[in-house]
Amino acid sequence: MVDLNAFPRRTYTDGPTPLEHLPRLSAELGGPQIWVKRDDRLGLTQGGNKTRKLEFLIADALEQGADCLITVGGVQSNHCRLTLSAARREGLDCHLIVEEDLGPTGSALGPAGANPPEFTGNFLLFDLLGADSVEVLGNGADLLGRAEELAAELRRAGRSPYVIPVGGSNVTGAFGYVDCAQELLGQFADADLDVTTVVTPSGSAGMQAGLVVGFHAAESETSVLGINVSRSQADQEPKIEDLVQATAARLGLMEVPRGSVVGLGDYVGTGYALPTEGMVEAVRLFARTEGILLDPVYTGKAAAGLIDLVRSGRFAPDDTVVFIHSGGVPGLYARTQAFA
Ligand SMILES: *Cc1c(COP(=O)(O)O)cnc(C)c1O
Repeated sequence: MVDLNAFPRRTYTDGPTPLEHLPRLSAELGGPQIWVKRDDRLGLTQGGNKTRKLEFLIADALEQGADCLITVGGVQSNHCRLTLSAARREGLDCHLIVEEDLGPTGSALGPAGANPPEFTGNFLLFDLLGADSVEVLGNGADLLGRAEELAAELRRAGRSPYVIPVGGSNVTGAFGYVDCAQELLGQFADADLDVTTVVTPSGSAGMQAGLVVGFHAAESETSVLGINVSRSQADQEPKIEDLVQATAARLGLMEVPRGSVVGLGDYVGTGYALPTEGMVEAVRLFARTEGILLDPVYTGKAAAGLIDLVRSGRFAPDDTVVFIHSGGVPGLYARTQAFA
């Protein structure tokens, strides 16, 4: 086990999130027993995985004397919504720099065919939560570059900005999922579960990297299987790996064996946030069998991967698999066309 108490932390959720058995989904798929970790029920506005990362990131910001936050993401970014929500909780200003979605074919649309955000889902919540500014840039723009520029402007005006990278995925943010791995191991023990695999969406990779480090630190045999939402396997695995090594080093752990991270790229479809048939089927199946809503960008695609892997015999019938529900449901209402 690692001791995270040495690092400053805020608390945004009361107690552990539930770990629930999904007997009807498991029976329908006819494979392993599937359980779900309900991180969609974390604290802050509408919950989701960024809440765990923000407990460490915001504490770090406060310790550094920050009076405003700047972060970046897509126009339907859950991370931007939750960073803004944490800012409201702490009495900090919050500036968002977001990029337009890809066009329907998976290409950036450029100025002529720009793709302005609809006033719904997370983008609506940016407004309700009173973001101090929201800048919308074209797809592929240098969001972090613009964030650093804005930080410099704010500093010149006498403010103390704190910049949080995309998805909150640096070492400090990853601590949130090191902690989640420890929480899960306690729940596995309480429920007497021998969990073979934890299946997780993999985007900016902080969630997966934290889980890998947390299980490694506890010498657990449970493996973490990432399902990518935006990149190929070849592009994603080095990103996860780098953050795993940096996080382990910062915690003073022995090096995690290289080459042990997996991020499958087969379920991305034509690009980040663009719907796939498998995503639509997965969202419908979780809802119909268990009454659980997934989101179309992350958990829907990851669940499509899980379903496909179960059907293709990747797991044994007596395996226990835990799926991380990382949240994102507000984004469902911004992408209803995919289900019409
Ligand atoms: C950001 C996000 C993810 C991906 O987590 P990463 O740490 O960026 O890999 C998964 N699900 C939801 C709902 C998210 O908002």
